[in-house]
Amino acid sequence: MKLQAYLKGAPAIVLAGLLVGSLPVQAKAPIEVVTSFSILADMVKTVGADQVNVVSLVPADGNSHEVELTPRDIKKVASPDTRLLFVNGLGLDSWTDRLLSSSGFKGTVIVASDGVKVRKLDEASAHDEHGHPVADKDAHDHADHGHEGHEEQAHEEEHDHGHNHGEFDPHAWQDLANGQIYVRNIARALSQADPANTALYEGNARDYIQQMQALDGQVRKAMSDIPAQRRKIVTTHDAFGYFADAYGLEVIAPLGISTSAEPSAKAISAVVRQIKEQQIPAVFLENVKNNKLQDQIARETGAKVGGMLYSDALATTGEATSYLGMMRHNIRVITEAIK
Ligand SMILES: [Zn+2]
Repeated sequence: MKLQAYLKGAPAIVLAGLLVGSLPVQAKAPIEVVTSFSILADMVKTVGADQVNVVSLVPADGNSHEVELTPRDIKKVASPDTRLLFVNGLGLDSWTDRLLSSSGFKGTVIVASDGVKVRKLDEASAHDEHGHPVADKDAHDHADHGHEGHEEQAHEEEHDHGHNHGEFDPHAWQDLANGQIYVRNIARALSQADPANTALYEGNARDYIQQMQALDGQVRKAMSDIPAQRRKIVTTHDAFGYFADAYGLEVIAPLGISTSAEPSAKAISAVVRQIKEQQIPAVFLENVKNNKLQDQIARETGAKVGGMLYSDALATTGEATSYLGMMRHNIRVITEAIK
């Protein structure tokens, strides 16, 4: 009775109170976020849910090492509404340095790979053998210029293509343990930008990390079922070094770390010889590369073409349109081809 009277007497006040209490969270616009490439975009969307609007500069099936920036991209990054720019780092998307200077971006740049155990390319000379003269040339240019201070940054701006310089392997996301580090960095950055939704971001990150851990176990199991001498594959460019280290696979990549180098005839015949000698069972295509070379290698060696791997970009359709889906797809395609 008493409560009813109260509600009857003061519904307007109660409603107003509810509205005031809930307004700040419900009416707030999502955070505008830009990512350099599609895998990061998926991770940020998964952690940020409907509290973020994410635009990826390199789209699904695009080449994340290089990018043709459009005026629309620059406008998006220059917009005062865009608060966060997520990059991979490790040389993959150093083209964003150029974008930052031309757009006058005022927000925060987050390097998603911060904290991963970086895979060094100390076998850089081996990549040169496999036809990667570009990185070598860049390295010399680099030394000649003698920048002070922000050496790395100043250097990257001189190049239209974000070639990796042969020092670090940027493809850290191919190890699900690293994926978890990316997600923690993303959740922290979103929470700092939008403290009111910290619980949401942290909760989503926790769920996501659990899924990554479960999948990591499945990948290990699937790989351990393959006889050790058959755990060898050929990919186009060297995007699976972290995957190989984490899950016990040997990967040969005729293009080395870059996606722009064209391998020499000598490099190709060296790979063909290696495939025959080591009886490598399968050659894989990649969604981000022209795959003619793989067809040629398969013909010359008798290795089978094992299917399509997603390395540096998600797919536009199908299973590999998410990071977890991509990892699931890749392990299935690899194990089916070499088992
Ligand atoms: Zn790559």
